[in-house]
Amino acid sequence: MNSKSPGIKDGRMILEIIKYPDPFLKTLAAKVATVDESVKKLIDDMIETMYYARGIGLASVQVGDSRRVIVLDVPDEDEKERTKGKNLMALVNPEIVLAEGEHIYEEGCLSLPGVTADVERAARVMVRALDRNGKPLEIEAEGLLAIALQHEIDHLNGIVFIDRLSRLKRELVKRKYKKSMETEERAI
Ligand code: ZN
Repeated sequence: MNSKSPGIKDGRMILEIIKYPDPFLKTLAAKVATVDESVKKLIDDMIETMYYARGIGLASVQVGDSRRVIVLDVPDEDEKERTKGKNLMALVNPEIVLAEGEHIYEEGCLSLPGVTADVERAARVMVRALDRNGKPLEIEAEGLLAIALQHEIDHLNGIVFIDRLSRLKRELVKRKYKKSMETEERAI
């Protein structure tokens, strides 16, 4: 029995997180026309799934849905551990409208368990999106939140973090990932 398998856990809907190299991760997600009940349900299920998997962000494409939705709950810089729900946000049709500076951060991803790598991204971003109620909003972010926003929006464009690495670095990480997946398969 795999405790990480999807389904209903304590009344919460836990979705299956697609793992690399599943081709669905290359999906270019489509803009949401209306934030209706089915989009709200997707948001709620993604939030539960993110917490269950102990992630700080999750994109719809990672749970097999091709509507442009991301959820995040990124801890404050001075927090050792996240206070669940404190910085929770759900964004529909998120779009980076401004990006500046450079920041290198060691990223990981729920779709590539067991590996991390230094990724170079913009240090500050401005993101426009719709909230859970379909209301437009604008977020200015820096630090880990800026990184997480770029990482999750990449997923909506079919990009995973290792796609941002040099070919050599990517091959090394892929090899390590393959090994760690084989070990996991043997585990009971
Ligand atoms: Zn990811």
